[in-house]
Amino acid sequence: MAKRDYYEVLGVARDAADAEIKKAYRRLAMKFHPDRNPDDAVAAEKFKEAKEAYEVISDAKKRAAYDRFGHAGVDPSAAGAGGFGAGGFSDIFGDIFGDIFGGSGGGGRQRQQRGADLRYNLEISLEEAVAGTSVKIQVPTLAACQTCDGSGAKPGTSPETCQQCQGHGQVRMQQGFFSVQQTCPVCRGTGRVIKDPCHDCRGQGRIQKERTLSVKVPAGVDSGDRIRLSGEGEAAPPGGVPGDLYVVVSVRAHEIFERDGSNLYCEVPISFATAALGGELEVPTLGGKVTLKIPAETQTGKMFRLRGKGVKPVRGHGPGDLLCRVVVETPVHLSRKQKELLQQLDETLTGHKHSPRSSGWFEGVKKFFESI
Ligand SMILES: [Zn+2]
Ligand SMILES: [Zn+2]
Repeated sequence: MAKRDYYEVLGVARDAADAEIKKAYRRLAMKFHPDRNPDDAVAAEKFKEAKEAYEVISDAKKRAAYDRFGHAGVDPSAAGAGGFGAGGFSDIFGDIFGDIFGGSGGGGRQRQQRGADLRYNLEISLEEAVAGTSVKIQVPTLAACQTCDGSGAKPGTSPETCQQCQGHGQVRMQQGFFSVQQTCPVCRGTGRVIKDPCHDCRGQGRIQKERTLSVKVPAGVDSGDRIRLSGEGEAAPPGGVPGDLYVVVSVRAHEIFERDGSNLYCEVPISFATAALGGELEVPTLGGKVTLKIPAETQTGKMFRLRGKGVKPVRGHGPGDLLCRVVVETPVHLSRKQKELLQQLDETLTGHKHSPRSSGWFEGVKKFFESI
């Protein structure tokens, strides 16, 4: 059986704070604890599941690995755990992140040796967001210099160990009684010096370049979601590791639909006659047209729910709903004949029984004036 998403198990959002996670786990543990549910296999299983989820999500390191690689990132028995950071195109499709910028995990792992993370704003249509898509993007970036293979040294030569610091990157300076450690001024902390710099990159090991990348956008993404392309950020100075590229999704406004999470909203104009007599209406969904039954005596503003015609989110449950709000349209450009017919109809519509809304409204107005 496939494992459930840990966040789903705990019933918390992906960006939930530690306290919230702890609280959620405590609640589940109380509910399903074997002492409280003797001989209940289902409860025992739920308890185990919650415990496992909590052990991962409450541990910052494990949580980061889980966010990035899913169950494969934290389950030692899972195959493919070796894919960590390999950065091939198959696994760069990575993950949608709640929040990783400046978050936990990333801090302090590689001091100045890491290339900068890059951000790319990707605008897609609602249809593409719902169905998923694959796009090619052009990213201006510092890439490892091909000529010197990123070393910064002229081909045929190689960087030498810094004589000043013996390759440590740090030097001790005597200042009076004190010995102070400082970044080596000769190699600026890299521990190596380039005597004969590469012409193409002037010894930097990196050059400005435009690269084309393929980005796989999973179905269900929404504005603000981030796709991380591991190792596709800026190349690092010689000897370092490249940064990551974050593709930030922004979904364009749609002509018909408005999206709120997994639900879609749309407004459907209906004629006065259809509203009064009832009828059938063709309404658009992202999967094609469907027929919507309008009951007789439908008032303007009424909302109809088409279950499962919304958006299936990237994570979590099934698709949301499509909510259609019908708006009764007032006919325009009426002929003299049509006006007469309406007039005739209107004369028959006397008394409150034909207009529940206005009778309520007039009542309200009456009460309002009586109260002042
Ligand atoms: Zn070079
Ligand atoms: Zn040095």
